[in-house]
Amino acid sequence: MAEIKELRCVVGGCRYAPDEVRYTCPKHGELGALDILYDYDRLRAGLDRDAISASAISDCWRYKPLLPLAADAIVPPLAVGGTPLYAAPRLARHLGLERLWVKDDGANPTGSLKDRASALVLARALELGIGIVSTASTGNAAAALAGLGASLPDMKTVIFVPAAAPAAKIAQLLIYGAQVLLVEGSYDDAFEICMAICAEAGWYSRNTGVNPFTTEGKKTVALEIAEQLNWTAPDVLAVSVGDGSIISAVYKGFRDLIELGWLDKMPRLLGVQAEGSSVLAQAFLSGAAPEAVRRGRANTIADSISSELPRDRAKALRAVRSSSGAFITVSDEAILAAIPTLARLSGVFAEPAAAAALAGLERAAKEGLIAADESVCLLSTGNGLKDVARARQAVGAGRRVAADLDAVRQALNEARLL
Ligand SMILES: *Cc1c(COP(=O)(O)O)cnc(C)c1O
Ligand SMILES: [Zn+2]
Repeated sequence: MAEIKELRCVVGGCRYAPDEVRYTCPKHGELGALDILYDYDRLRAGLDRDAISASAISDCWRYKPLLPLAADAIVPPLAVGGTPLYAAPRLARHLGLERLWVKDDGANPTGSLKDRASALVLARALELGIGIVSTASTGNAAAALAGLGASLPDMKTVIFVPAAAPAAKIAQLLIYGAQVLLVEGSYDDAFEICMAICAEAGWYSRNTGVNPFTTEGKKTVALEIAEQLNWTAPDVLAVSVGDGSIISAVYKGFRDLIELGWLDKMPRLLGVQAEGSSVLAQAFLSGAAPEAVRRGRANTIADSISSELPRDRAKALRAVRSSSGAFITVSDEAILAAIPTLARLSGVFAEPAAAAALAGLERAAKEGLIAADESVCLLSTGNGLKDVARARQAVGAGRRVAADLDAVRQALNEARLL
């Protein structure tokens, strides 16, 4: 376990004692997301990376010494994290790169990286003695909370999702037995409603950009990538961005390792947004401060990165700017096309929002943002089975054939297999 030293506001550097504030900075409101910081000298003195590498625990709890939990904290029993990092030489060649890895976070228990945040938030709720945890979500954060909540006795979860979320995601929530409210509005509508009800009812809020434990949970993906690369960082890490919470957490994970002296550099973070939901990319390009970011439009097939007002905007802009990274936007057509490209050249089936990272890499490589000899990690954030309708849109419904050998032979002949 890592003892929290202080909470620090990303906007004004305001500092708080560990138990002083639960969500965002009282002075800077919702924009003032908090960083959970540790006494790094003390951590370094008591722990080294070899001890982590020797851990017999293969899921994200192998990093418990770097997480804000008591050593004996109860955590959900499902195996969150410990996801594979695949070398992807054919995909690298497609991009004109020499070295590329795909981190497949779609392999998590509920199919997305969001499990990492939900697992830590639920563990924290147990520490706080709160029995109801709630979130608004475009789908994956909700599925993660519902699924991991269902793995614990006596834990209730209440979910607010847009009624238009993909069918598989809604089915997941209902299957896990969460209390689900399908809000007839946007994700942003669901978010505001959830925030208000959590405050009113005293439930623990897992909401992105609000609860600092979400960042700490998601940072474990960066810790894993560094360890899987033998305690080095790639030159560039590409990740899709909606609310900006994942990219912020990736930054925090690498930052913690650098503070500990376990890693010597921060990768350049490439944030990929859909053209139709690109508030952060625009703010980055115009050099805007987080305070100046205004609500925009959100219209993309990649529902997991659809956000009118990215909730973790302050942390996300900091992550990209201080890593000398960049934001890039991609069209829905490019996102759809990236799904089969990723699957066929690496074997990883990603949902649209996750495949967007590949579409962004394609564009970044073409525009010279990445040199051929740089090492690159593509973070695939969610499983392709989450949104089969969009996957079918990319590849069609498949070829039908009569149950007849001659017809089959002819079809195989046309496919040049016979
Ligand atoms: C949530 C999510 C994202 C975007 O993460 P943000 O923290 O909102 O930027 C990307 N891909 C998938 C699959 C997600 O579920
Ligand atoms: Zn503040």
